[in-house]
Amino acid sequence: MKWRVAVPLLGLLLAASSFVRAAEPEVSVILWFDTEDYLLPASDDAAKRVAEILTGRGIRGTFKVVGEKARVLEQRSRADVIAALRKHDIGYHSNLHSVHPTPAEYLSECGWLDGIAEFVRRERAGAGDVRRIFGVPGLSCYGQPGSSWAPQAHAALLQIGVVTPGGISVYLDEGSQVGLDEKPFWYGGALNVFNMGRNQLRMDLHETGGLEKGCAEFKAAYDRLRGEGGGLVSIYYHPAEWVHQEFWDAVNFRRGANPPREEWKRPPQRPPAETEAAYERFGAYLDFQRSLPGVRHVTASELPAIYRNRIREEGADLATVNEIAERLARGGAVDILRDRRGRFVSPAEQFALITSFLERSIGNGRLPALVEVSGLRGPSERPPVTEVAELPWRAFRDALLDAVDEAHVRAQVPARVFAGAKKIAPADFLRAAAAVAFALIEAGPGAPPRFPAAVAIPSGTAVATERFVAEDSPDLFGGWIIHPEGFRAPRIVEMAKLQAWTLKPAERAP
Ligand SMILES: [Zn+2]
Repeated sequence: MKWRVAVPLLGLLLAASSFVRAAEPEVSVILWFDTEDYLLPASDDAAKRVAEILTGRGIRGTFKVVGEKARVLEQRSRADVIAALRKHDIGYHSNLHSVHPTPAEYLSECGWLDGIAEFVRRERAGAGDVRRIFGVPGLSCYGQPGSSWAPQAHAALLQIGVVTPGGISVYLDEGSQVGLDEKPFWYGGALNVFNMGRNQLRMDLHETGGLEKGCAEFKAAYDRLRGEGGGLVSIYYHPAEWVHQEFWDAVNFRRGANPPREEWKRPPQRPPAETEAAYERFGAYLDFQRSLPGVRHVTASELPAIYRNRIREEGADLATVNEIAERLARGGAVDILRDRRGRFVSPAEQFALITSFLERSIGNGRLPALVEVSGLRGPSERPPVTEVAELPWRAFRDALLDAVDEAHVRAQVPARVFAGAKKIAPADFLRAAAAVAFALIEAGPGAPPRFPAAVAIPSGTAVATERFVAEDSPDLFGGWIIHPEGFRAPRIVEMAKLQAWTLKPAERAP
């Protein structure tokens, strides 16, 4: 009965709100909460209270839960906390968070494939526990403990059950290892909200005057993003921040300390009045956000519908292949490209697009009208120096077919393409293949393809997207108080640069 009245009314409201949205740029706000303190029981209540503050306002947040935290909630019989959080998005924040070795510590010794396997080995059980205890089929996102970031995590997310209902893995956190223009981006096969710069905000929960300052900062970001036609603001807290005086992990695991479980200490707690004032301030901060037209609170699960990968969804027609091929063949480096239809194409997608176009042209004896663009990861090792300057067509053809097979079977850009015993760097091979594809299309799409007698292979082609990956520095990993003093992870930076093949901006759906 209710529905008969409500549905037409709802339809009118939706029509009205979509009209307003079309007229006004939307500022999406993602609120995420790293729910990790498994030592101080008051943190359980804090998580529940934060969830209720959101629920009471009709806002859904994203709670990234640590595996041990979920187990502790179960052991303490906190079904009430679990139920309160379940009204929101449930993501993952590692199995043990700060117990050593942390993800960057154990991955600092790994290469690509063994690193993925190691991440899965150490983190899968915790993800399973969070899924089981919270009763959710998948976890909406992952983000690393502290600065304990590594690109093997991105590649492992599907394997550990971090997948949104849209079938996409979302990486949601903050850090400086990789970033693109303070906006969401694609990297390592995941949709990343990371390194958001001026679009990452945090009101101080405990400072007098923090609310006014926090609202002013929010308004400034809101105005700037509205001026740009809309965008995303990322705001994060830890439920424990409302109740503790010091982070639970700094008390126990500071600078590489690793006491046995029996010796873990609880962090000191704030007086209740301070905690209450912080809840008040947080509620008022949310109310301020809601008072601004065009603000929409979103969860990690909703991001794949807001940020699309159009070239992967739609494929590339002949005009797009032609455009990408020409720019690759004429340009000196491999970089992110945007086609005339406004779609971004990462270097790895360019590799998939160009090589599968040629493979089908060879196999079918005519140029395909549309090629699918599969999602490849970056190569797993540093490329070799290219050893050939030119190949006869048949040798190039055979190298290409082998490269396409490797890319297909391993879902990654080959670390090197073999022409017989000679090695070719994948970026050089991509540009050589692009020149062939461009010439075929220019010769006339209707005619049977006329392959060249020989193919020139360039050398030293740079992958320009590596510039978006931070150089190794003492602070990049060592800045986190939990990592040992001076901790560095150059192997992780190396792996991160190889995955720069997969980088590109995430486009907002129209
Ligand atoms: Zn954390």
